[in-house]
Amino acid sequence: MRARCKKNRLTVAFVALGCPKNIVDSEKMLADIGQAGFIISDDTDNADVVVINTCGFIKPAKDEAFEAIAAAVEQKKRGKVRKVVVAGCLVQRMGAELAKEMDGIDAIAGLGARDDIADIITRSLAQSARQKPAIYLEPSDRRIGDDTGRLLITPGHTPYLRISEGCDRACSFCTIPAIKGRFRSKPAELVLAEAQELVRNGAVEISIIAQDSTYYGTDLGIKNGLSRLVKELDKIEALRWIRLMYLYPAGIDDELIETIAGSKKVVNYIDMPIQHINDDILKAMRRGDRKEKIAELIEKLRRVMPDVVLRTTLIAGFPGESDEQFEELSDFVRTVKFDALGCFGFCAEEGTPAAKMTGQVPQAVKNERLERLMLTQQQIAFEKARGRIGQELVCLIDEVDESGLGRGRFYGQAPKIDSVCYIKSVPPGPSAVAKASIFAKATTDKMAGQKAHPTIRSLKPGEFVGVKVGGSQDYDLLCRAIL
Ligand code: SF4
Repeated sequence: MRARCKKNRLTVAFVALGCPKNIVDSEKMLADIGQAGFIISDDTDNADVVVINTCGFIKPAKDEAFEAIAAAVEQKKRGKVRKVVVAGCLVQRMGAELAKEMDGIDAIAGLGARDDIADIITRSLAQSARQKPAIYLEPSDRRIGDDTGRLLITPGHTPYLRISEGCDRACSFCTIPAIKGRFRSKPAELVLAEAQELVRNGAVEISIIAQDSTYYGTDLGIKNGLSRLVKELDKIEALRWIRLMYLYPAGIDDELIETIAGSKKVVNYIDMPIQHINDDILKAMRRGDRKEKIAELIEKLRRVMPDVVLRTTLIAGFPGESDEQFEELSDFVRTVKFDALGCFGFCAEEGTPAAKMTGQVPQAVKNERLERLMLTQQQIAFEKARGRIGQELVCLIDEVDESGLGRGRFYGQAPKIDSVCYIKSVPPGPSAVAKASIFAKATTDKMAGQKAHPTIRSLKPGEFVGVKVGGSQDYDLLCRAIL
């Protein structure tokens, strides 16, 4: 995602890479850059300074960051860009090596330097071309930043709310604890102040994010920290949906399930990365869960909340994963039928115990397993989407195009990562049909015969609308607004 910024006619182009946690850091940096008087721009080919906030979690993320840095450095060589500043997780992971490896960077700023970004940009502009890159690095686990006053990249009605930083789990494949340090909860009063601010600025849905949201409060000696926090957030009147992301399965206890089920605002949507299901693989991954417990948890969640939507994440081709163990995982996916699933091929990340394990699975096998899992899930997801035809749902509108076609989500769809609902509230006139290509097929068959509601009104981003599902297109739902 790219956003753009001028101080005394100086522009800063900002490249925001990575996960929602990194997006929050980008939003905070953008606000500071704007406040310092720079003009924010999205033209990374022509800016006084290009700032790249990187992700360094796994190889594909690193490759994306290297590509963005190389593109900015190239523009600098051509005289289109004056300075290149690199920030974020990749800097924290590689340290000064990054500046050595990639010639042309003017400053690198680790996670601890986030709140100094405007000063770092100003200092880099004062640097002579011959000066060595400036290095701003400090241990990553010193502090949990204040995330209020962000310049949002996400739509204002659906921002992220980060409740902690770092991670105390020790999954053998994961670089996060090394990059981000120990788990630090953001004090509840800060979280609540931030939530209030977001709501004052138009938020109606908030997605709670952390490396492991269930761990919230543990470092502060608070029991059931997430439940307690959620109960406080629940009291914010204008907030309609609270979405809990990144719930480590072993951390989902009865208290949390009761809190979610009993809350009017916490949506019945559980994002719980299980990573695998075979006990030996889970053990090698150093996960705190085992198959029996995970299966019991899923059964309990579905019993207590029959309409719960479950999302998980899996790793295919972990070291030592045999054909049988992979089949066990495939069978589990087929049987349990998660509503949504993200899957990654194992990446041997330097510095992690899993990278040194024997029995590394050849890349071709990993790719094949990954594809099989995704195809298995695709069938399930398509079937589930078809199963919603005829249902009436409440959708939050995220965007409306010029033809009046809305794109939104019901409670079972998290922003950015899940499928969406396409919502029509206008008669299918020729221009609407032409512009809304997604509806082209549905208009002719699945939605044919559906009558538009007699009261026609336009949709607006940030509003909740009752819809009836008239069709599905792959993962997505095709709906008509009912007023
Ligand atoms: S819970 Fe495991 S996978 Fe998630 S951030 Fe922590 S160490 Fe990494």
